[in-house]
Amino acid sequence: MTTLEGVGVGRGIAVGPVLRMPERLPEPATLASTIGPDSEKERVTGALAATAADIRVRGEKAGGKAQEVLEAQALMADDPTLRSDIDMRVDNGATAERAVFEAFAGFRDMLVALGGYMAERATDLDDVSQRVIARLSGVSAPGVPESDIPFVLVARDLAPADTALLDLSVVLGVVTSDGGPTSHTAILAREKGITAVVGVSGALDITDGSTVIVDAAAGSVVVDPSEQETGRANAELQRRAARADVPVGPGALADGTPVPLLANLGSVDGLDAALAAGAEGVGLFRTEFLFLDASSAPTVAQQYGHYSKLLRAFPGKKVVVRVLDAGADKPLAFLNDAHEENPALGLRGLRALRASEQILRDQLTALARAASETDAELWVMAPMVATVEETRYFVAIARELGITTSGVMVEVPSSALLADRILAEAQFASIGTNDLTQYTLAADRLLGSVASFQDPWHPAVLRLVAEVGRAGAALGKPVGICGEAAADPLLAVVLVGLGATSLSMSPSALGDVRAELLQHTREQAVAFGAAALGAEDAAGARAAVRALLPRPA
Ligand code: PEP
Ligand code: MG
Repeated sequence: MTTLEGVGVGRGIAVGPVLRMPERLPEPATLASTIGPDSEKERVTGALAATAADIRVRGEKAGGKAQEVLEAQALMADDPTLRSDIDMRVDNGATAERAVFEAFAGFRDMLVALGGYMAERATDLDDVSQRVIARLSGVSAPGVPESDIPFVLVARDLAPADTALLDLSVVLGVVTSDGGPTSHTAILAREKGITAVVGVSGALDITDGSTVIVDAAAGSVVVDPSEQETGRANAELQRRAARADVPVGPGALADGTPVPLLANLGSVDGLDAALAAGAEGVGLFRTEFLFLDASSAPTVAQQYGHYSKLLRAFPGKKVVVRVLDAGADKPLAFLNDAHEENPALGLRGLRALRASEQILRDQLTALARAASETDAELWVMAPMVATVEETRYFVAIARELGITTSGVMVEVPSSALLADRILAEAQFASIGTNDLTQYTLAADRLLGSVASFQDPWHPAVLRLVAEVGRAGAALGKPVGICGEAAADPLLAVVLVGLGATSLSMSPSALGDVRAELLQHTREQAVAFGAAALGAEDAAGARAAVRALLPRPA
C-alpha cells in the first residue's frame, strides 16, 4: 500500500480499479513532403476545421462551463497566427503532420514560459495538436478509455474535451500527474462534482487494474489499499449516501440531544436559501458585510431596514447579530485607520467600535428598535473580544441601549483561556474558529504559504474550545460555534463533544452536518472530543477520531 499526495478537488471519495489514459501519439517524423505545399495546406485546412467542429459538438453536448472551455479550445484550432506558422513550415517543405506538431509545440512552450494560469492552458493546446495530427494520420485521437466496469481514470492531464464528456456512470474519479488547482481538469471536475486529485507525482507509475482510494478532501491517492482501508473508505461512501436521504429537521445527535443548526449570513439576500436548508435561526449575521463600500457610518434608519427584514424572516427563532467587525481582511473606511502595520493585531472589532463609540451606539439602537417590532429572539455579540473588561463594557452598553441578550465572540486565545470569567459577565459565547485558529497558530488566515497552519482540527485550538465548553456548562450559558469548523461534519461532532451547544454555518453545509450529527450519540461525541484533544497535531486529531468511527459490517 502506498499513499500519493496531490491537490484534491472538492470533498469526494472514490474507490475502484485504475484505467490508464493511453499515452500521446508518437512525434511525427521529419520527412520532406512528397505532395507539395499546396496539397499539404489543403490537408491542414480540412483537419483544423474538422477538429474545431468536433470540439464544438462536444461542447454543445456538454453545455455549461464545459462548453465555454471547449469553445476556447476550438478557437485555438481556428487561430490565424498558428495557421500562418504552420503554413510557413509547410512552405519550407514539412509534411502537414510535422508542421502542425512544431507550430503547436512552439506556442505551447510560450505558454509554459509565462507560468501560472497560462501554463495550465498548455494542456488544452497539446490536446488540439494531438487531435489534428490524429486526423491527418487517419488514427483515432487519444482519449478516455472505454469500459463497462466503473473505474478511476489515471492520466498525465485531461484535456477539456475529455473532462467535459466523462461518462460519470463509469468514471468514479480522476487522478492526474500534472495540473494544478486552476487547471481545466480541476475547474471542470469541480463543476461536474467529479472526485479528483490533480498534480499527483507518481500517478503515472500506477498500473492498470490496481485498486486505488481517491480522497479529495485529504488530497491523497492510496494505491493497493489494505482491506481495512478499503472497508473504511466504503463505509465513508455509505455514510455520505445516507446523508443525502436525511429529511430537513432540527439538528440533533443520535440519542436525541438537540444541537440547533443555524445559518451564517452576510446580508438579507441569503435568507431564502437559509430557510430552505432548514436553518433553525441565524448564528452569525456579519453586519460589516452590509457596509463594506460605505465611506461614512450608516445611520440608525439605514441599519434598521436591514435588521428588520432579517428578524422578520425568523419569527420566534434565535437570530445572533454581530456588531461591526471592522479591520484586517474587512476594513471599513469609517472605522479603521488604513495605516496599521499589522491590522489583524490592531484596532479592529470591538476595539475599533469602542474608539468610535457613537457608531456602536447607533448600531445597538437600530437593532433594539428592529427587535422591539418583531417576534424574533435577538441576541447581539461583539467580535474580537480579548479581555473580561471588554466583555463587561459591551454587555453594559448593550443593556443600556435596550438589548436584552448580549454575548461575545471567542476568537482570541486570551478570551478562551479566561472563558469562566468572560461567561460570568456575558450571557453567551460564540466561538469564531477562523480567527481563533489564526491567532492560536500565529498564521495569517489569508496567506497561502501558511495555509497548512489554518486547521481548526489542531488540538491547540480544540483545547481552547474545550475550555470555553467547560465554562459554559459550569455556568449554564450557551456556547455556539460560528467559524468554518462547524461546517466540517465530523469536526462538528467533535465540537459538540467539547461542549458546543449550537452550530452555525453557511446554509449549504447544513444538510451534511445535520446528517452526521444523527450518526453519533452524545457519549460518542464526547469520546471523539477526548481523542482529538489527545493528538499532537491536526492530522493526528483527524486520524484519532476516524479510528473511532464504526467499522463496516
Ligand atoms: C471567525 O473568525 O471564525 C468568524 C466566524 O468570524 P469571521 O470569519 O467573520 O472573522
Ligand atoms: Mg472572526
